[in-house]
Amino acid sequence: MQLKKMIVLYALLSTSLFSRAQDAPINKQSFDQINLTYPGLEKTNALFLAGKYDEAAVQLLSYYRGRKNIRHPEFNLSDESRFKGKSIGTSNLEKANNALEHKFQPHKGYGFFDYGKDINWQFWPVKDNEVRWQLHRVYWWQPMGLAYRSSGDEKYAKEWVAQFRDWALKNPLGLSDDNDRYAWRPLEVSERVQSLPGTFNLFLKASDFSPAFLLEFLKSYHQQANYIPLHYSELGNHLLFEAQRLLFAGSFFPEFKDAASWRKSGISVLNTEIKKQVYADGMQFELSPTYHVAAIDIFLKAYNAAKMAGVENEFPESYSKTVENMIIAIANLSFPDYNNPMFGDSWLVEKSGRVRQFQSWAKAFPQNNTIKYFASEGKEGAAPAYLSHALSVGGFYTFRNGWNVQSTVMILKASPPGEFHAQPDNGTFELWVKGRNFSPDGGVYVYSGDAEINKLREEYRQTKVHQTLTLDNKNMVITKARQNKWETGKNLDILTYTNPSYPELDHQRSVLFINQKYFLIIDKAFGKATGNLGVHFQLKEDSKPVFDKTKNRVHTSYTDGNNLLIQSLNTDKVSLNEEAGKVSYAYRKEVARPAFVFEKPKNDGNAQRFITLLCPYEGDTVPEVSISFLTGNDFEKGELRISLSIDGKAQTIKTKL
Ligand code: CA
Repeated sequence: MQLKKMIVLYALLSTSLFSRAQDAPINKQSFDQINLTYPGLEKTNALFLAGKYDEAAVQLLSYYRGRKNIRHPEFNLSDESRFKGKSIGTSNLEKANNALEHKFQPHKGYGFFDYGKDINWQFWPVKDNEVRWQLHRVYWWQPMGLAYRSSGDEKYAKEWVAQFRDWALKNPLGLSDDNDRYAWRPLEVSERVQSLPGTFNLFLKASDFSPAFLLEFLKSYHQQANYIPLHYSELGNHLLFEAQRLLFAGSFFPEFKDAASWRKSGISVLNTEIKKQVYADGMQFELSPTYHVAAIDIFLKAYNAAKMAGVENEFPESYSKTVENMIIAIANLSFPDYNNPMFGDSWLVEKSGRVRQFQSWAKAFPQNNTIKYFASEGKEGAAPAYLSHALSVGGFYTFRNGWNVQSTVMILKASPPGEFHAQPDNGTFELWVKGRNFSPDGGVYVYSGDAEINKLREEYRQTKVHQTLTLDNKNMVITKARQNKWETGKNLDILTYTNPSYPELDHQRSVLFINQKYFLIIDKAFGKATGNLGVHFQLKEDSKPVFDKTKNRVHTSYTDGNNLLIQSLNTDKVSLNEEAGKVSYAYRKEVARPAFVFEKPKNDGNAQRFITLLCPYEGDTVPEVSISFLTGNDFEKGELRISLSIDGKAQTIKTKL
């Protein structure tokens, strides 16, 4: 009996004292941000007007618990059967349970760190800026919410309420410049503004979600959302994220006095930015496939959020047309495994995930056959009627002989200057043949942080770790390619562009896709500059290449017989040298891989050339390749007249470069 009493007493204390102890008193000002004339808040307003603020808060909580007209895209109180007793996955459960002990994983590139019994929000265990920024995205809160809804265990709710309060208490705006830089970076604020409504819905029915906590939550949420339009980032995907999330805030919480102005601001920014950030060919101006896809999802999410609030007509028709173009651009930049080149800050993706994205895009554009084709993995709709295709403004060129896994696909970048997520890499390309990406881009590995982290990032950005031309192995100073020629035909597709890579040295690259099978690359370096020229190549980590310095060639040795020969066809002296190489498919993960360079000096003002054949072949017998220059061949005039012999079969190629 005595024990039972103690337990009851403890239970009473723990709810009334420990968890509710921090409940702030509710007064008139607690409702300052809320439009109490909003439909559905009549009872709350009546109590408020009568000065019964505690009761008004109770009523407001009951309004939110019963609210049906605003549906969150993922998490809703009424979807009980979706959560109760259902597995949330080991990864979510680990995040939720570790969070109870204040062990948080601020970034997926690293593990969990102990932030202390009394949470230290300034703790910075690895001096990678992302680790400190993304801590403030509180990624583990939704897993806690899912664990709560799945198990019904109030410990998750109690802890979340405590953490929400702890975060708000210890990270007030203006605490210090240093803290504001991380906790109040507009992108992080917008990330919270985006994820908090889902977390709100997941915990809404918890007993620790008290009327007083509701008002605290709304006050903090309002402050965060309201912060965004006053601190929009200047450019790029950050601004897009911020605008989309502000629109979402105004759509999910239409009860705020500022909700309409948030929606208006978000829509207006997105309407302006979509015109500025997306080229006529559908490429987003950061020129990184990963961020391009992120931008598609931002634009579509925004449109759906506007729909939730019934204001989708505030987007002009050109808005959705542009989003559709962006999706077609990504289809053009897709290899048959649904990956895109890892140009700029880009990562490898899971096919299933990208197929799901295409499925969600197909819902938005049900009439588009190409999107349908990708969404259904080729079962419905139709592949585009063309093969090779240029996105000439964004400078992404795809050479392609088909749309299935057996196809040959080369995607090359020769672009205007990109924003933050681009690299000095014009000319680089990835080559896919029959199910294998022979030359993935190195990727990005890490973003920014202290000197050591920045050095690691810089290694991956270097021009010389890309498949292009360098002078003295330095980074190209200007990435601003000008397209000279793009033509597609039955037996020959050809691209020529010029990039003013260095002071006094331009790089002109011509790529010829011959018989839908081989690639001939002609590089011309011209201008007054002198130094050591190199044309670099990088291969996949498992390619076991054979370097043949006598024949100036490198070939892979895959045992499945799907191989690639890279053959220098220069008749002047060019040396083949191995280089250090590595590739990163995921954050802070890297593997060594083969890399090499064809080199020669440039001693005077004369132009220098590299002629290289990329020849995919079957089996383990390396093709014998030779070139002869025919009458009328004149590189200076851009007239190409050659005979190319592969295993004794000669072919004449006559074209203007
Ligand atoms: Ca790269």
